[in-house]
Amino acid sequence: LLHVHPGRVVYIFFNVGISLTMMELNMFSVLGHILGFYSNVAVAWIGAVTADLVINKPLLKLSPSYIEFKRAHLYNFNPVGFGAMVIASIISVLAFFHVFGDYAAAYSAFIALGVSFVASPIIAIITKGKYYVARDAGYHAGVKHDTLSCVSCGFEYEALDMTGCPFHKGNICSLCCSLDSDCHDECKKPHADPVLSYGTPADLTH
Ligand SMILES: [Zn+2]
Ligand SMILES: [Zn+2]
Repeated sequence: LLHVHPGRVVYIFFNVGISLTMMELNMFSVLGHILGFYSNVAVAWIGAVTADLVINKPLLKLSPSYIEFKRAHLYNFNPVGFGAMVIASIISVLAFFHVFGDYAAAYSAFIALGVSFVASPIIAIITKGKYYVARDAGYHAGVKHDTLSCVSCGFEYEALDMTGCPFHKGNICSLCCSLDSDCHDECKKPHADPVLSYGTPADLTH
């Protein structure tokens, strides 16, 4: 579209200009502070994930033995992971800003890790693991083929990446399902029947 352009040399000045501005504003020290603050949240998240994998799944058996990633099968929020992360983040960020003294500030990342690691199984026990899986996976035995085509985009995917969608009346891939907001999570409502779509005779024809 643009027939006249200033050429690549301009970008050298542009990029050097940005770099120089950042250096003059002492961006590196600001960045260190922002990342240090943010790392508390990241570490809290890792602690919650680790506790889920090493405690909630194998020991408490409150989290499903497999890793569920399909939006259609998950609740929007599971207080186990999200709650543990939020609690640990708040405590460790307060510690990071010296609320609990200098030692706690220095060890804020370990506080984040410890709190979320302990909070995750406690919340799992309190909620009895109710918010992990929103509906029956609906995998049907006896379906011979291992790929299914998506009703939304038409591409073929492995059966494990697909889910039955009562709104689109067929098998939908996890990407299309994540991007779809028209269905208003119809599949998770009690009357929804996932059997309707998964491994129907139409799928057995190819
Ligand atoms: Zn699709
Ligand atoms: Zn849906």
